[in-house]
Amino acid sequence: QTELLEQIKEKIKEKNVELLHLQFVDIEGILKHVTVTAEQLDDVVEGKIMFDGSSIKGFSPINRSDLYLLPDLNTFAVLPWTVEEGYAEARFLCSVTNPDGTLFEGDPRNVLKKTIERAAEKGYTISVGPELEFFLFKADENGNPTLELHDGGGYFEPSPKDLGERVRLEIYRTLKAMGFTIEASHHEVAEGQHEINFKYADALGAADNATTYKWVVKTIASKFGLHATFMPKPVFGINGSGMHVNISLFKDGENAFFDPNDANQLSETAYQFIAGLLKNVKHFAAVTNPLVNSYKRLVPGYEAPCYIAWSASNRSALIRIPAKRGVATRVELRCPDPSANPYLAYAIIAAAGLDGVEKGLTAPAPIDEDIFHMSEERRAELGIDNLPENLGEAIAALESGEIGRATLGEHVFNEYVAMKKDEWNSYRTEVHAWEIERYQGKF
Ligand code: GLN
Ligand code: MG
Ligand code: MG
Ligand code: MG
Repeated sequence: QTELLEQIKEKIKEKNVELLHLQFVDIEGILKHVTVTAEQLDDVVEGKIMFDGSSIKGFSPINRSDLYLLPDLNTFAVLPWTVEEGYAEARFLCSVTNPDGTLFEGDPRNVLKKTIERAAEKGYTISVGPELEFFLFKADENGNPTLELHDGGGYFEPSPKDLGERVRLEIYRTLKAMGFTIEASHHEVAEGQHEINFKYADALGAADNATTYKWVVKTIASKFGLHATFMPKPVFGINGSGMHVNISLFKDGENAFFDPNDANQLSETAYQFIAGLLKNVKHFAAVTNPLVNSYKRLVPGYEAPCYIAWSASNRSALIRIPAKRGVATRVELRCPDPSANPYLAYAIIAAAGLDGVEKGLTAPAPIDEDIFHMSEERRAELGIDNLPENLGEAIAALESGEIGRATLGEHVFNEYVAMKKDEWNSYRTEVHAWEIERYQGKF
């Protein structure tokens, strides 16, 4: 810690960092920050910076509203787009604490820390590699998003079709300067859709990275007069944006999912983890797929899952096992989308898998057929169930299962369910353009 702090002080001097942004996310995963001066570094590091918790939706009531920010020194980063001659800004991601110094249970980052501790008690560390897709839309002269996609490129298409190339290059450079290891960058399947992949990390690091990535993508896009969105299904009829979550457990420094002697080179632990995911997915979908719009992505035909099954290679299945083995052995959960709060999502996914490991659950047989084009009868025969079809179903399943309350904790669980019920009721009772178009003239 002290060594790290020394390095941070060096950096602040070297880059002339004048302002520090202290960042955290709310229950929906939306980034917040307060800005202080670099002279306040000592107070910052001691967790003395206070804010009004009652002004953050779902945090604290007005009569107990004082909360504090405790920076995670590992997340210090100079913000490349602020750097000028003799001036720069930097940020820390923070955990939220109560006035007595204990961790505030409404903070999603603290929720994830609890799951990480639970895994550690069993000797496991959780490794997560997320893949967040996004769309670029043109922004108008006020910087507001329009409905016009930025380009008409497709999967892996180069320029001149891919107009996003310069934007992705700038995002890549920015993330790299902030300490990311970037592994790939490409145009995605849909028009205007892109993906930039960064290296896996421990669960907390991965959630911090996902949060930073979303912020940087939006920030850089806006400099190009564009609006980047992580909304899961912004355009009807073309692919939506996923946040595939590649996850594995490590024990004693070894990948606990790898077993060279198994037919699939997967360990007992891996199968149990898969079984836990399959068992719990309906009950955690409201967290990994949090919006009304999330369920418009989870329909057949767009590379997003809607049926509960696993496979070694099948991109129509919910869980795929990428071909890599050894330390890179992992399961890829394909339902999450990038509008999810990464802290809550990785916590509940890991908890669901660990539930399978703890209970020694048995995974069903893999499904290697194309499930999108399978008859209902065949699916029933194979015992393939569906993911929730809308947010209402997903909330009901979150409430009826055990995984939500146990993982999110009383505070976040109650706030989250209340928030999502409001959202669903607002949508459910609204009269949409589709209904007017379809019914007003006819009936
Ligand atoms: N966009 C797809 C989804 O919604 C994924 C496509 C891909 O990465 N192959 O999950
Ligand atoms: Mg990918
Ligand atoms: Mg992709
Ligand atoms: Mg993937």
